[in-house]
Amino acid sequence: MNYNKKSIEDIEVSGKRVLCRCDFNVPTKDGKITSDKRIVAAMPTIEYLVGHGAKVILCSHMGKPKNGYEEKYSLKVVAERLSELLGKPVALAADVGGEDSKAKVAAMQPGDVVLLENTRFAKGETKNDPELSKALAELADVFVNDAFGSAHRAHASTAGVADYLPAVCGYLVQKEVSVMGKALADPERPFVAILGGAKVSDKLNVIQNLLEKVDTLIIGGGMAYTFLAAKGCGVGTSLLDGEKLDYCRQMMAKAEAKGVKLLLPVDTTVASAFPDPIDGEIAVQVVPSEAIPADKMGLDIGPKTMALYADAVKAAKTVVWNGPMGVFENPTLAKGTIAVAQALAESGAVTIVGGGDSAAACEQLGFADKITHISTGGGASLEFLEGRELPGIACLLNK
Ligand code: AMP
Repeated sequence: MNYNKKSIEDIEVSGKRVLCRCDFNVPTKDGKITSDKRIVAAMPTIEYLVGHGAKVILCSHMGKPKNGYEEKYSLKVVAERLSELLGKPVALAADVGGEDSKAKVAAMQPGDVVLLENTRFAKGETKNDPELSKALAELADVFVNDAFGSAHRAHASTAGVADYLPAVCGYLVQKEVSVMGKALADPERPFVAILGGAKVSDKLNVIQNLLEKVDTLIIGGGMAYTFLAAKGCGVGTSLLDGEKLDYCRQMMAKAEAKGVKLLLPVDTTVASAFPDPIDGEIAVQVVPSEAIPADKMGLDIGPKTMALYADAVKAAKTVVWNGPMGVFENPTLAKGTIAVAQALAESGAVTIVGGGDSAAACEQLGFADKITHISTGGGASLEFLEGRELPGIACLLNK
């Protein structure tokens, strides 16, 4: 995949109608936005376009409406917040490329901003219907994709529309692609990847792809137990992907053949059962990973493992992290995830965090500003690390 994509700065936008796909998929409660982080994050691109005299037509999905218009998924609240942040009116078109969109766009002056309604109100959006792509393309002269979180989906507003318009990236997508693209294509070494989370099967392709690129692969979280079991350790009642034992053996053999260090937990924090409620009190003990009692469940990495993983991070020049080291929703079982977040924050390496849980951990701990790049896209960043071509990126013009 070519990571060197044209951006809004590489194309004439002045006086042009610019359709900009954003990620305004913000959480709402009782008709109010509970976090406007994504809207704020989109401002540099929008302000650049406004400042350069473009007619700025914004679009986004929000939530998962199933049957056309539903008030609770209307982008009205987003239009209001955008208008406050920009200090100018932002008109909301009642449709997605229909009559009202056309009329509102026709009335625009350079520097004006119009927001289309939720793209998923349109039937053709998730089917990548060419009719919808064409209708969207007819509104504009240029397409800008600034929604990395949706870039792994080939939808009409994320990729299809680029069949009919010159397409470039906005600042958010540009940063995602350049930082993560460089890490994968030409990383400063040692390059360390840390994978965690629940299941091996969710990360098969990432493990395989990263083994081709990294110097050290660190495994934690629920997925570590399948690797430990594949090595012949008893893992008690820990999470186990029984069908993936052979796969884990293959990956360990591949790591050895390639000279990649593959680190697994040397000690484990165990309990008698999964915490219920998940954040409830829980009695734990730490045991060596090769001696997990038959009636115990591994729920976090132990302190020796935390030190081992932190040392690997400290020696690294590039670190990619995706997935928690334990059941971090529980404070007693969050220590491994916190230790990894802290090691990243303290390392002088280029650090890239992807995936909602690991990103949230860095933010909650106040480490976010010490991380080089926190990806805005969970699924998209995982597919990126898998080395897959993301439709919303592949459709953009190469430099
Ligand atoms: P994922 O969605 O694959 O990134 O997994 C995230 C989830 O994995 C979190 O909700 C964690 O609670 C869970 N998790 C992490 N470690 C373990 C573990 N040892 N046992 C069970 N679940 C885990």
